[in-house]
Amino acid sequence: MSRLTGLLLSAWESGKALIDADYADGARLFGAGMRAGRAELEQLQLRRLRELLRTFFNAGPAPEWLNPHTDALQGYADLSTLPVLTRAGLHELATRYSAYYRDRRDISAYATGGSTGEPVRFLISRRQRNRAAGLRRKLDRLLGWEPGLPRLALWRANLHETGHRDDQPARSHHGWARHFGSQYFGGFCPTTDDYRRFLAAIHRLPRCAIWGYGSALEDCARFLLGTEAALPPGRIATAWNCGEMMYPAQKDTFRQAFGVQPRELYSSRECSGLAAECAAGCLHISPRYLVEAVDPATHLQLPSGKTGLVLVSDLFNDALPLVRYALGDLGAIEWRQCACGLSSWCLTELAGRATTLIKLPAGRKVSTGIFAAIAVHLPDLHQWTVARLAADDFEVRYKGPALSAGRQHELLAMLQHSLIGARISIVRATELPRAPSGKLLPYIDLRPNSAADGNQPDN
Ligand SMILES: [Zn+2]
Repeated sequence: MSRLTGLLLSAWESGKALIDADYADGARLFGAGMRAGRAELEQLQLRRLRELLRTFFNAGPAPEWLNPHTDALQGYADLSTLPVLTRAGLHELATRYSAYYRDRRDISAYATGGSTGEPVRFLISRRQRNRAAGLRRKLDRLLGWEPGLPRLALWRANLHETGHRDDQPARSHHGWARHFGSQYFGGFCPTTDDYRRFLAAIHRLPRCAIWGYGSALEDCARFLLGTEAALPPGRIATAWNCGEMMYPAQKDTFRQAFGVQPRELYSSRECSGLAAECAAGCLHISPRYLVEAVDPATHLQLPSGKTGLVLVSDLFNDALPLVRYALGDLGAIEWRQCACGLSSWCLTELAGRATTLIKLPAGRKVSTGIFAAIAVHLPDLHQWTVARLAADDFEVRYKGPALSAGRQHELLAMLQHSLIGARISIVRATELPRAPSGKLLPYIDLRPNSAADGNQPDN
């Protein structure tokens, strides 16, 4: 993209901010939230939440918990008086509101990929998307992007394949701005040919930002290192990983190939752009979200820095009350005065998806969390899946450099310790199974009729 195009884009974006109230509101909330001190942000967010809940209470199929008492929410601690919204709860809520919005052209229904065969439905309004677009550019800046800098992605450009309802299009005014200056390569499962095109595009630009799925970025880095055709230094201004967590070893490979440390953009399909990593390595939470870490059993808020279930309340979703929604991730929340100059709530100890339980034949239950330990203890194992072939037969499939006999032995010992009595094998694979969303699955159940168990983790 030329300098002129960059300037035009900046002018267009600031012009849009001046004339489009929702777009400007999104950007304003981000600005105000990031400038505010802790107490001020708490009041700003709770005031917005109360207004939003009042609107839902006054019209539409309000759920039972949504009563006028939500006006009593005066501090973050008061959120504990509201129930936790589970994935099943969100699905039910979306179905109910969807019927209510039958004739609303500005509201679209979406669904998460869902590896369980039961994707979660959710609703998004045009207004919400416009606000999100205004805020999103600010998050991009946190990630090191600047207006006019081209963005190249190992990613798919839209949600359409996962349940977008075409009879209710809710196009954002800013749809094209969002994609302007962006190029997408290869979707969820890129091929070496996609990597070649991706790298050729980088070569054609003086500077650019790159982002995508962590596993795709790492795979591409490996491909680049294998070609011995290094990129000129300084070509990549910034890079970020999205959609799945990147382990330290994966980040090292990426840095070796592309010359920059990949940052994290923590997001989900239901809540886009929750937190972004700044140059100083802090994962700053967007002021659009009220994020809590709660005890998984009691749902009570945990003290700062304690790891628990991450709950999210979205201040922009005016299609349905997305309040205290459990994304299924574990993490801790801390207020930080960051070296980058921002003071905000930050996500720390992000531990990825909460786990599910595998029932072994002897009645013993084992958490899929044991598979996450694989990544911690064997950092040289980059991409892997544990496949259950029969009740007591498991196969670790991995991609990347061959594991030495010693490392295989270590891995087997680790798994045998938890999967007592089961047969475990290790196989090097060329492809690994992915959820429809493109994420790698840490565990898949390949037994016939396994869906009935509800054993598979959500993506
Ligand atoms: Zn920072």
